[in-house]
Amino acid sequence: MSKPTTLEIPVKGMDCTECTRHVQQAISALPGITSVNVLLAAEKAIVQLNPDQVDLPAIRKAVTGAGDYTVPEMVEAKTPSPRTLSMAAFNRRVGLLLGGVFAVILSIVILGEWLGLFDILNTLVPFPIGVVIVLVGGWPVFRNVIRATFRRQVISHTLMTLGVFAALAVGQWVTAAIVVIFMRVGDYVENFTTEGARRAVKELTALAPQTARVERDGLEIELPVTQVNIGEIVIVRPGEKIPVDGEVISGQATIDQAAITGESMPVEAAAGSHVFAAAIARLGSLRVQTRQVGLDTTFGRVVKMVEEAEANRADVQRFADKFSAYYLPIVAGIALLTFLISRDPLATAAVLVVACSCSIALATPVAMLASIGQSARRGLLIKGGKYLETLTQVDVVLVDKTGTLTLGKPQITDIIPLNGLTSAEVLALTASAERFSEHPLAEAVRVAAAGQKLSLHEPRDFEAVPGLGVRATINGSRVTVGNRRLIPAAKSLPTAHQLEAQGKTLLFVACDDEPAAVLAAADTVRSDIPEALAALKEQGVEHVELLTGDNERTAAALAQKLGIRYQANLLPENKIEVVKAYQAKGHTVMMIGDGVNDAPALAQADIGIAMGAAGTDIAIEAAHIALMREDWMLVPELFAIARRTMGIVKMNLAMTAVYNVAGLTLAAFGFLPPVLAAAAQSLPDLGIMANSARLLRQEEGFRGKSKVQP
Ligand code: ADP
Ligand code: MG
Repeated sequence: MSKPTTLEIPVKGMDCTECTRHVQQAISALPGITSVNVLLAAEKAIVQLNPDQVDLPAIRKAVTGAGDYTVPEMVEAKTPSPRTLSMAAFNRRVGLLLGGVFAVILSIVILGEWLGLFDILNTLVPFPIGVVIVLVGGWPVFRNVIRATFRRQVISHTLMTLGVFAALAVGQWVTAAIVVIFMRVGDYVENFTTEGARRAVKELTALAPQTARVERDGLEIELPVTQVNIGEIVIVRPGEKIPVDGEVISGQATIDQAAITGESMPVEAAAGSHVFAAAIARLGSLRVQTRQVGLDTTFGRVVKMVEEAEANRADVQRFADKFSAYYLPIVAGIALLTFLISRDPLATAAVLVVACSCSIALATPVAMLASIGQSARRGLLIKGGKYLETLTQVDVVLVDKTGTLTLGKPQITDIIPLNGLTSAEVLALTASAERFSEHPLAEAVRVAAAGQKLSLHEPRDFEAVPGLGVRATINGSRVTVGNRRLIPAAKSLPTAHQLEAQGKTLLFVACDDEPAAVLAAADTVRSDIPEALAALKEQGVEHVELLTGDNERTAAALAQKLGIRYQANLLPENKIEVVKAYQAKGHTVMMIGDGVNDAPALAQADIGIAMGAAGTDIAIEAAHIALMREDWMLVPELFAIARRTMGIVKMNLAMTAVYNVAGLTLAAFGFLPPVLAAAAQSLPDLGIMANSARLLRQEEGFRGKSKVQP
């Protein structure tokens, strides 16, 4: 048996969550399908399947059989495609247009109803002609309903069509015609609302570079980015977009990385710098050696994650999706009751046409996607509405120390030799042992040794002990560098305690199990942390706790300085246990780390946040939310974004719920004529779109808001 594979299948023609359900059901019904996720905004289905049992043609057939959906030929999309009109602009224009058209039609209808013009028209035009008008005008809708019926699907237009025929049955052809008009207007509104959600995601892709200037055979040629090969040199001129992720070979430029990090402050790039696709060279030109192209670039990954964020649905959305599936039968039931009790075909027709099942399902994703799309442009990669929802419940924030709370660039401050060696000898020995370690402390030792121009020895039998230190053989003696737990022989020296009380990290050095020296390293706490912690408190997050592999005293000194809690002496695997322990006590836990060595704890937490994720693939993959730049103020901002988004989602849901209940009640009791019911039916979609668009307003960010002006 072959392994399950994941296919991404483009699906066109889905306008509404109802459609995603049909596509989902059609694919799930095939044999050999393990899971199906249909994304409305990204217009695709992510299908996990067993290739022995099912293939693409079978899936295509199932999808096209489920309705008016098509599966375009799969083109290997290597680069996100550009869109020109932003969602905000789109919303403004379409909103104005639709709002205008809608207002006109609505006034005509209200006026007509009020003045009794429709009754006059109804008697003036012979009934058979009226029926023909209704049938011809509503044909596209009726055709869909008939097709759906043959597939045994009940769609919202099925009920509305019943309403149309109820009106015809009592000779009200004008009413039937107006209902038909609103069914079609409603379709457009719905389409635009869905398209709005789509745009929030896709306008991000407009920032993707399209072409690259490549050096080939001594010539400079312009190519689509997808045709650039890894290792090739691309040339970036002033004002141009960097087309690939890569390393600068020569040249110098000020570059704007806002597309990736959300930070518009330009940074300097020169030979050796790592640059990202979609950044813009403002001044100066660069020659860049290609490392990654298209969807493999950091920017490409962000776009892909945002596109797929829809799959991580929030619980409110799951609930709304489920509810909207039961909604049509409920409405049909109410209509039946209305008819049985009142015997009034027009009231029954009004009930059938007033229900808007689609808006219930759209209320959540439109807002979520707007928020996620907007956040991505500001350097906050949120991988799903689920996480925005969970964020509002977080009550414990756990923070890694090195690289997250501190800059992760420690410096050696003290060297205390213990057995007669000079400090230069100690440093050379330690740096030699640390030669192949990737730990920031090892880097600090190497930098210190290089600063004194010491020559290093070749280490043999190098061994890294995670969370403890390193071992290596240098000139025949066994050298160990690490903390107390690795070197128990290191007696607790009074000076050591003193250094630790200053928040410094100690490296004990042993030579053939004899203590040889103590080195102290100091790391700088990130300058924006006090402000960020204060802002978090303002957001109601009180419990912030430092988790570190460092020792008790060092951790205590730092935690006390910042006014947070701490747990010390943790091995990397202990950090997961701490997360689990809090979860077991019923807390919702956020873990913030630098993503590389904290990946397991990040994944275990309810919300794992990777800080400064630009360029580190592991961090982007492991975390639920990736902050593309190292900016602590993004953390309180996240909480604010989540609150605002969930507020708007709840408002959308409440709005549609109240609207539907009120509409159904009024209609059932005969207070809402069918023409007005039909007009009413498309209003919530407009409301959702307008309300959700508020999330797109360019805000200054948390820093701007919380800063007290002197
Ligand atoms: P943190 O939790 O602060 O990120 P780590 O888990 O990476 O820390 O490491 C915990 C402790 O282990 C460090 O504070 C240090 O004492 C010791 N250690 C780990 N690696 C090394 C190394 N390469 N050299 C010296 N000490 C090390
Ligand atoms: Mg660490």
